[in-house]
Amino acid sequence: MTYPLYWRDQSVMDWTATVLASAPEAIVLDESAFFPGGGGQPADVGQLEWAGVFTRIEGVSAAGLVPAEGDPLPAIGTVVHARLDDVRRRQLMRTHSGLHVVCGVVYRDFGALVTGSNMEPLLGRMDFNLTDVPSGFKADLERAVNEEITRDRAILARVVTREDAMVDPDVMRTAQHLIPPEVEEIRIIDVDGLDRQADAGTHVASTRQIGEVRIAKVENKGRGFRRVRISLPA
Ligand SMILES: [Zn+2]
Repeated sequence: MTYPLYWRDQSVMDWTATVLASAPEAIVLDESAFFPGGGGQPADVGQLEWAGVFTRIEGVSAAGLVPAEGDPLPAIGTVVHARLDDVRRRQLMRTHSGLHVVCGVVYRDFGALVTGSNMEPLLGRMDFNLTDVPSGFKADLERAVNEEITRDRAILARVVTREDAMVDPDVMRTAQHLIPPEVEEIRIIDVDGLDRQADAGTHVASTRQIGEVRIAKVENKGRGFRRVRISLPA
């Protein structure tokens, strides 16, 4: 029902939309840039404004945008000015793209596959299937990740058919993004020359926009399961 603006243009932070449904549990717009959450990236927050009135949006549920309790609700048909918390969203874009650079470097330099990831603004973690951790792993990884960031590789988003995605070995090796069979269109995030995976999340346009990434911690979770924690300076 809602057209997802972030799907084809991740840079949209404010826009005009029409209210299709409105209730204390959820507000539905015809077009929305609010990322609903998924792939380890939390949902966006922000606000709707109309006729000088504001509704805070605290997240996204399956039913739509979740308004703050007690905030005014726009009537169906109202044209609202919607705006994301753009500082938080930009931090999430940098963090998410930073995790993809880590994923690409760990696979290229250490041959390990990612098994899961999660993030909040400026903090992320990624789990790898890495049996032996070479000495100096943390420092080597941090250096290589920041080298790739400095190279300013383009981060491209494109939408392809399910068939095209399934024959791409780079897309299929990222085991954490298992694609449900009912999904017909798949979005690919391509850190040019480094990492390519199916991903619905939001990313910066090139690696330099990530800024510095610190490898905060490498944890041993047992049986070849390593957790890499990153942090980004604000
Ligand atoms: Zn991702």
